[in-house]
Amino acid sequence: MTPADLAFDQRHIWHPYTSMSQPLPVYPVVAATGCELQLDDGRLLVDGMSSWWAAIHGYNHPRLNQAMKAQIDSMSHVMFGGITHPPAVELCRKLVAMTPAPLECVFLADSGSVAVEVAMKMALQYWHAKGQPRQRFLTFRNGYHGDTFGAMSVCDPDNSMHSLWQGYLPEHLFAPAPQCRFGDEWNEMDMVPFARLMAAHREEIAAIILEPVVQGAGGMRFYHPEWLRRIRRMCDREGILLIADEIATGFGRTGKLFACDHAGISPDIMCLGKALTGGTMTLSATLATRHVAETISDGEAGCFMHGPTFMGNPLACAVAGESLALLAEGDWQQQVPAIEHQLREGLLPLAASEHVADVRVLGAIGVVETHRPVDMAALQRFFVEQGVWIRPFGRLIYLMPPYVISPAQLDKLISAVATAVEDPAFFS
Ligand SMILES: *Cc1c(COP(=O)(O)O)cnc(C)c1O
Repeated sequence: MTPADLAFDQRHIWHPYTSMSQPLPVYPVVAATGCELQLDDGRLLVDGMSSWWAAIHGYNHPRLNQAMKAQIDSMSHVMFGGITHPPAVELCRKLVAMTPAPLECVFLADSGSVAVEVAMKMALQYWHAKGQPRQRFLTFRNGYHGDTFGAMSVCDPDNSMHSLWQGYLPEHLFAPAPQCRFGDEWNEMDMVPFARLMAAHREEIAAIILEPVVQGAGGMRFYHPEWLRRIRRMCDREGILLIADEIATGFGRTGKLFACDHAGISPDIMCLGKALTGGTMTLSATLATRHVAETISDGEAGCFMHGPTFMGNPLACAVAGESLALLAEGDWQQQVPAIEHQLREGLLPLAASEHVADVRVLGAIGVVETHRPVDMAALQRFFVEQGVWIRPFGRLIYLMPPYVISPAQLDKLISAVATAVEDPAFFS
C-alpha cells in the first residue's frame, strides 16, 4: 500500500472505536496464513488475537477456502424467504446437535450484535405472546453484548457510555459483576445483590442475559460456573428466560465446547457468532428452545418479527459448516488445554511485575491486567516491532490465539507481553 493509501484511510475510513480527528496508526496487512499476518513490507506477525475470537483454525485454511470456492460456483446468495438450501440445513443440523439438547430452533443472522437483538426480541415477543408483556432485562455489570442499540442497552453502563444515550436507551437492571472467580471456592454471598434485584423485579423481567463464565470486552473477567447453575434455577422458579451470549466463548475457546458446559446448564436462548465461520465471513446464529419458538409463533403476531436480507447466506453457511466439521474432528480438545498450559507457565509469573495488577488464564485466553492504562499506540508499535499482533485496550493486554498456534509461536507472543509489562514507557 502506498503512503497515499494510508493517508486516504486516515482521512476517510472509520476504524473500530477510533477517532476520525486523531486516528491512531493502522498497519497494512496484505495476507494472512496459518497464525501469521503479513504486512505489506513483507514482515510476518504472529497473531495473538484470532481477529477477535474468530479465526480459531488459523487463516487461509485450505478446507475453509475450498468450502467457499465450491459454494461460490453453485450460488453465493439466495433469499431465505420461501427458500431453503443445503448449506443452511447442514449447518443448522450441526448446531442443533452440538448445542445443549433443549436448543432446537435456529435463527441465522449477519453478526453477533444482531444475534443479540434477535435474542432480546425473542424474549419480548415470548412474554407478549403469553399475554403478560415484560420489557426489562437483568444482566451483570462489565458485560458486553454488541454495539447495536438493543445490545448496547445491556452492555456495562460505564464502558458503553450509557450517559450518552440517556432518554433513548431503555434502562435495564444491572447487578454487580460476579466477584467469585473461576477456580475460587464458591461464595454464597456473591449472589446476594443479584438475587435481591431479581426478587424486587421478578414480575417485570423478561430475561436474564449474560456471557457465561467469561465476560469478554467488558473486562476479560472469568467467573465461577456455579453462578450459572444458580441463575438457571432462579429462572426456572420464576419462569424467566435465560439468554446465554456465547458469541465470544462458543466453539471451544474456554476449554469446553460452550462456556455453559462448565456448569452443565442449558439456556433458553443462545447467541453464537465470531468463530462460527472460523473467522472467514460474518454470520451469527440464535438458538431457542421449542417452547420459546412455539410460544412466539402462537402469539398475536403469528411469527417472529425478524428477517434480514442476507439471512442464511449460503456462502457463510457453507464455510461455517466446514468450520464445525473441523471442530468435530476434535483437535481443539488437545490444542486448547496445551495453549492453556503454556499461557499459565508464561503469563502467571508476570503477576510479580510492579505494573501488573492481575494475571488470569482460562482455556485459550490469557489476560494480563495492568495497574495503569496502556499507551495503545506505543505498545502496538512495540508489538509489531517484536513480530507479534496483540491489540491491548484500557488496562488489558490479552492473548487469544488461533487453536493451531505452535508452541514456538505462542512463546513469541508471551515473550513480547513479558518484555512489555516491564517497561514503564508503555503505561500512561
Ligand atoms: C463480539 C461480541 C458481540 C458482538 O458481535 P459483533 O459480531 O461484533 O456484532 C456480542 N456479544 C459478545 C459476547 C461478543 O464478544
